[in-house]
Amino acid sequence: MPKHYERVMEIYGEISDLYAALALMGWDQETYMPTKGAASRGRQLATLSGMAHERITSDEMRGALDGARSESLTADEEVNVREISRFSDRAVKIPVGLVKDLAETSSAAISVWIKARQEDDFPAFAPRVDKLVALQREVAEAVGYEDEPYDALLDEYEPYASTKETAAVFDSIRGPLVDLVQRIADSGVKPRTDFLARNYPVDDQRRMGVKAAERMGFDFEAGRLDISPHPFCTHMGVNDVRMTTRYSETLPMQSFYGVIHEAGHGLYEQGHDPEHEGTPRGASVSLGIHESQSRMWENMVGRSRAFWRYFYPEFSAIFPENSADVSEEEVYAAVNEVKPSLIRVEADEITYNLHILLRFEIERGLFTDEYAAGDLSAVWNEKMKAFLGIEPPDDRDGVLQDIHWSHGSFGYFPTYTLGNLYAAQFYRAAEREIHGLTERIARGELLPLRDWLRDRIHRPGMTYRAGELVRHVTGEALSADYFLAYVRDKYSSLYSL
Ligand code: ZN
Repeated sequence: MPKHYERVMEIYGEISDLYAALALMGWDQETYMPTKGAASRGRQLATLSGMAHERITSDEMRGALDGARSESLTADEEVNVREISRFSDRAVKIPVGLVKDLAETSSAAISVWIKARQEDDFPAFAPRVDKLVALQREVAEAVGYEDEPYDALLDEYEPYASTKETAAVFDSIRGPLVDLVQRIADSGVKPRTDFLARNYPVDDQRRMGVKAAERMGFDFEAGRLDISPHPFCTHMGVNDVRMTTRYSETLPMQSFYGVIHEAGHGLYEQGHDPEHEGTPRGASVSLGIHESQSRMWENMVGRSRAFWRYFYPEFSAIFPENSADVSEEEVYAAVNEVKPSLIRVEADEITYNLHILLRFEIERGLFTDEYAAGDLSAVWNEKMKAFLGIEPPDDRDGVLQDIHWSHGSFGYFPTYTLGNLYAAQFYRAAEREIHGLTERIARGELLPLRDWLRDRIHRPGMTYRAGELVRHVTGEALSADYFLAYVRDKYSSLYSL
C-alpha cells in the first residue's frame, strides 16, 4: 500500500472510531441515559468531537493527504482520498472560533425555541434565526460555493448537489403535486380509518414491526430496535446498527411504518462492504441517498397493494379482534390516506414534499436576503395556503414546529424530498431488473429487492457521488418524472381520479 495513503487511513481509522463512540453515546442519550446524565454527556460529546476535529485537520493528516494525492492509487483508494480530503478541507476552512460560536448560539437557540413554541411566540425566536443565518453565511463564505451561499450548506448533507439544480427539480413537482392533492380532495373518496384508532397493545405493535423488518432482511444479530421520542437509525459498524421507534397504543401504523423506514436506513448500513468498514468507500453517499432507501421501503414497498396482499394475514393474526371487520383493501386504503395537514412529520407521502418545498424556498430566501427571520411567520402561512390550502391557526403548528433551525441546520430539509425522488427512480430500475418484483412482494419475498439494493447501492459505498450513482443505477440523471408517475398511478386508482 502506498505509504502516504496508508498513513491517511491509519489516522482516519482513529477518527472513524471516535465517530462510532460519538454515535453510541448519542444513541444512548436518546434511549437509555437517565435525564440527569445530560450535562456530563454534553461535555463528553464535545470532547470527542473536538478530538475528531483535531485529527482530521492535523498537519499530519494534511501532509499525508497531500502525499497520497500524488501516489498511484487503486480506484477504491482514490475514493477514500477524495472524500477524506473533502471532510478535511471543510473542517480546515471553518475557523475554530466560528464553530464554537455556532455551537453556543444554537445551544442557546434551542431553549429559546422550546419556550417560544410553548408560548406560541415566534417574535421571541426570530432574532435567533437571524443570528444563526448570519453565522451560517460566514460558514458558507469560509467554505466557498459555486453560485450562492446555500450551496455550501446543502453540501454538508448532500455533497456535490447544487441549489440551482435542486430548485429546478423541486419546481417541476410543485404544480403537479398541488394539483394532485386538490383532485384527491375533490374526489369525495374518504378511506375508512376508524379501525386504526382502536387499542393496539405496544408489545404486539413491536412484534408486527419486527416481523416486517426481519422479512426485509434486517439482521437483528447485527442490529437492535429500541424506543426513543424521535425515531432514528445510527450505526457503529456494519454489524452494529441501532434503530428506534416510538409507540402509541392508538397509532399502530406510526410505529409500524417508523420501523420499516428505519430498517430501510439500517439495511443500507448493514449492506456496506465489511472489507471497507470505517472508510468512505464503505459508507453512505449522502442523506438524500440514505432517505431513498428508507422511503422506498416505507412507501413504495410497505404502502403498496402487493405488500398488503402478503402482510394482511400477519396483521390479522397479531390483531384478530381489531381486524375482524376490516378487509385487506381497507387497510391498504387507510395507510395511504392523503390529507393536507399542518405538521410535516405526520404528512402522507404526497403532501410531505410540499412541506419540504416550503421549507426549502424559505431557507434559500433567507440566504439570498429575500426574507429576514421576522417575515417567516407570514411567509410560512402564505405558502401553506398556496401549497396545501390550509393555514396554521398559530405559529406553534406553523413556523415553530421543527427543531432544525434552532440547531442552525439549514440545507437538511431538501434531502427528504430528494430521497423520495431518488427512491422512485431507483425503484423503477428495480422493477425492470427483478423479474416479477410485485408478485414476489405480494408473496412476502422481500429479499430479492434487498439484494438488488445491496448490490447496486449499498456495496459501492461512496464510489459514486449521488448524481453519478443515480446515472449508474438507472441509466439517466435524476428526474422527478418517476416520482410523479408513481404517485399519479397509485393515487388515481385509490381515489378514483
Ligand atoms: Zn429517514
